[in-house]
Amino acid sequence: MSDKPVPKAPMAERILVVEDEESIRTIVEYALDEAGFDVVTADRGDTALEVLERESIDLVVLDLMLPGIDGLEVCRRIRADRSVPIIILSAKGEELDKVLGLELGADDYVTKPFSPRELASRVKANLRRAKLDTDRGAPIRAADIEIDPVARVVKRDGESVHLTYSEFEILLKLAQSQRRVFTREELMNHLWKGSFYGDLRSVDVHVRHLRQKIELDASDPRLIRTVRGVGYAFGGEESEG
Ligand code: CA
Repeated sequence: MSDKPVPKAPMAERILVVEDEESIRTIVEYALDEAGFDVVTADRGDTALEVLERESIDLVVLDLMLPGIDGLEVCRRIRADRSVPIIILSAKGEELDKVLGLELGADDYVTKPFSPRELASRVKANLRRAKLDTDRGAPIRAADIEIDPVARVVKRDGESVHLTYSEFEILLKLAQSQRRVFTREELMNHLWKGSFYGDLRSVDVHVRHLRQKIELDASDPRLIRTVRGVGYAFGGEESEG
């Protein structure tokens, strides 16, 4: 974690830097911090995956040679259920790994040694591209569900499912950051754009209805997961109902 002196704007994009070599990690962290990003760091592959589980991350800068779980495997696991942009840091002589990384779904790569400024501009370019995709409303697919954010259409196994405004907004919010846990407050805030703080249990009611519409078995939900004492998440392993 960084202990930066200047507080970032609340909407600063959050970048996860995964690099075990402290000197490089520090340089990257400094460069991205200077460029106005909120930077979170991890020095192991498994730690990086843990960070992605609990935090909303907008882009990942990923070294390949890592202790714990190596970078290629981290890349593969991220891509199993997330569309967050990934920039690979590869050393000279790791050409094959770089190619594998791109095949595993990384978006871009930067070869060491690199200039911190160049890396920062690549981060910006990749975030811009990702934002364009979102703005263009690329459909989100997960399991047998397809969500079209522009047409506001949800299909389950190719069949349209009718959702209310609130149900759709909750589903889209959860599905856009799969496996991230959202609190009831966050979902309520999203629904009401921060202008209403009512009964948080209404979120539970929307989710119950949503499950009845999109889950194969609403009593054993697989898509929208309850995280006891916290809130809800889309996808992930354990389901506590
Ligand atoms: Ca390394």
